[in-house]
Order: sequence, then C-alpha cells, then structure tokens
Amino acid sequence: MTSLALLGGDPVRGTPFPRYNPIGESEKRAVLEVMESGVLSEYLGTWSPEFYGGPRVQKLEREWEAFFGIKHAVSVNSATSGLVVAVGATGVGPGDEVIVSPYTMSASVACVLAYNAIPVFADILPDTFCLDPVSIRRAITPRTRGIVVVDLFGHPCEAEEIMAIAKEHNLRVVEDAAQAYGASYDNRPAGTLADIGVFSLNYHKTIHSGEGGVCVTKNDDLAERIQLIRNHAEVVVKNKGVQNIVSMIGFNLRMGEIEAAIASEQLKKVCAFAVERNDLATYLTERLRGIPGITPPVVRARARHGYYGYVVRYDASRTGLSRGRFVEALRAEGIPAGEGYVEPIYLQPVYQQRIAYGAVGCPFTCPYYGGSVDYKKGICPVTERMHEQEVITHALIYRGVSRNDLDDIVRAYEKVSGGIPVLAGRAHERS
Ligand SMILES: *Cc1c(COP(=O)(O)O)cnc(C)c1O
Repeated sequence: MTSLALLGGDPVRGTPFPRYNPIGESEKRAVLEVMESGVLSEYLGTWSPEFYGGPRVQKLEREWEAFFGIKHAVSVNSATSGLVVAVGATGVGPGDEVIVSPYTMSASVACVLAYNAIPVFADILPDTFCLDPVSIRRAITPRTRGIVVVDLFGHPCEAEEIMAIAKEHNLRVVEDAAQAYGASYDNRPAGTLADIGVFSLNYHKTIHSGEGGVCVTKNDDLAERIQLIRNHAEVVVKNKGVQNIVSMIGFNLRMGEIEAAIASEQLKKVCAFAVERNDLATYLTERLRGIPGITPPVVRARARHGYYGYVVRYDASRTGLSRGRFVEALRAEGIPAGEGYVEPIYLQPVYQQRIAYGAVGCPFTCPYYGGSVDYKKGICPVTERMHEQEVITHALIYRGVSRNDLDDIVRAYEKVSGGIPVLAGRAHERS
C-alpha cells in the first residue's frame, strides 16, 4: 500500500471532481423567450386575475401538480419563504408549540419563529437522520399545534407514523422536501406525504432556478392561505371575501417569470436525475460496504432515497481513529468530505439566548406562552452524536460524476482505512 497523502504520499486523486451543473440549452432558450416577451413578472398584489402571477408561473404550478400528482402547487421565491407561508397557512401563532428537527437547514425551524410560535426539538433516527416518531410523541404537550418534518439528505421521513401521530393529536404537518427530489415513500413522492410540502429551487439543490421554491397541498383552504401570504394578503382578503384572516399579513414572496421558465425545464429532468443518483449511490454503497467502521447510507423498506447528500456513518470505536483525523486523511487523498452536517439548530444564538423578536425574548417569554422549552446542549443526544462523532457527508452523487470517480472515493476509503494503524500510532499492527 502506498503511503497516505496526509503523511506525504501521493494522493489517490489529483484532479477535482466535476462540478454539478443541471442547466442546459433548454433553460437558456426558455430564459430568452421570457426576455423577448418583455414581461418578467405579471403579479399584482390586489384581488385581480394577476393575483396568481404571470403565465409561466402558473404553467409551472400546473406542471408541478401533474408531476407530483397533487391538487395544488403554489410557487414562491425560495423554500425558506415556502416554509414561512406553509406554517402561516396552518394558523400556528403565539403560544403554540411546533415540533421540529434539530438536524436540518436553519429555515426548517425559523419558519416557526416567524409566527411567534415555539420550536420544540425532537431527536432524529440514527440511520436516516430524519425525525424519530418516538421522540416526536415525547415532545407533544397540550400546546403542540404542528410538526415540521424534513426529508434530510433526500431520505423520506417516517411519514406513515408521523401522520398517524398528527391525526391522533390534531396537528398540522409541514414536510420540508427541499432535498428530496426523486425520493418517495410507498411510491408516493416525498413532498406529498404531509399536509403541506415545500420544495427548494435554490442553486444548490437537485434542480434549481437560481432561487425559488414550491409549496404543494391537496387542501383547498391551505392552498388559498398560502397564495394570500405569498402576495400581500392584508389588502386582498376584503375583496376576495376571505373570512379567516388569522395570519393574513402578506409579503411579496413571488417567483418571477424567468425563474418559473427555468424551473419548468428543470422539472422535466427530475426523473432522469433521480435514476442517475440512485444508480451512482447504489454502486458506491456496494463498494464501501465491508470497510470496517463505515456504514453507507441506509434506505428503509418502502422508501426511495433522493441522494441529495451521500452520508456515511463512522464508528471510531471500531477503527480506533477519530473521525476528524479520518476525514482529514480522506481530504488529503483528494476526496471532498464533511465532518457532520450543520450544528444542531438549538445551539444557534437565537435559541441559546432566546432573543428573536425585540430585545425582551419574544416569543419565548411571550405572556401567551404558558410552557417552558429546553434548548440545552444534550436535549437531542442522537443528533449530537451523529453530528459530533459519526456523520461524514459527501455531495458527489450527481450527473457528471462517473463510476470511475466513485472508484477513487472507494480507493481513498480503503487506503485511509488500511493506514489507520499508522495514523493512530499503532504502526506495529502493520497496515
Ligand atoms: C435548502 C434548504 C432549505 C431552504 O431552501 P431555499 O430555497 O434556499 O430557501 C430549507 N430546508 C432544507 C432542508 C434545505 O436543504
């Protein structure tokens, strides 16, 4: 075995991995058509035909509905906006608790704060990194009004059990499917598994339009409320004849015609991208299996993984080497790898210091909130263990990456794994 790059040897790979670029000629043509039309957005923030946006925005929404087999799709300018309008549509407000995941992008939790409600963190499952239904049950109090679930890294959440819990306790469930293109549960697409699903079209996602997002729901009332919050609800409700004006403070969260035109083209590619990602991930998983202390991504029965991220678990108690040192050695071999994903959300200053709205600690200290919520380190031990000790993230499962590229990843894992005795100062065991 050649010596580890970390110790001065030649790296497995000297060239960077291909960059992901899902944009092609059809997107360029679509943008030009919008430019030539001269109409880059056709929204009006009043009750009028233009309340629903221009032709490309509406075309995208009808295509999204057909693709995901769901009654309503409502486009927005990001998934962050989508999560805000989704939580607002459910009617959650001051004094309410919403159960959330600590292991996700920050917006899947901040959307709860946006309505002066209280995020309550449940823990995740150690195999899929999605919310653990048992932990959700434990987090329920008389104040719980909703749950925000996340299909993290592209693995669908435990939808069946979570929706059953929600039904039992009369809770609304928002599904953050920003990472879950191509994923499904019982052949139902991720994003359609809860009351409202939210997709992202941001540059870093499987498909993108630069920035953008789409909410989906089968519920007519929720769809209307999402459309209202997206577009200046407060001035629209009177003329539209809307009775329920709870949380009808509107924003401008509208998508433009250019983004919609790009997104229409991107949507056509989702199936092909999903098949490619699944093939690549399956190949890599087969080859990584058997390396001591490395557990490739788990796909639960009845689930299909979207592989937005390819995440392995590292067991230092089996290898005798810290994850940090292992990842450092992988990177030295030319393989991009991340230690953990994002810091558990409750460790962010907004939760630790309980400063959100104003200086006095609303919503946490709001007089309408009769509960008390705990954000101490240690509240979600599985999440903390995954983040601090076990998770290694790779973002290399996408169009443009070949099996030869994946072979380099495997070679690097094997090489570093074989070099562990040297790295751990146990060289006498031979490598
Ligand atoms: C990217 C992402 C978001 C936010 O998406 P934007 O479109 O950038 O606002 C929300 N949740 C998750 C899980 C994400 O990965």
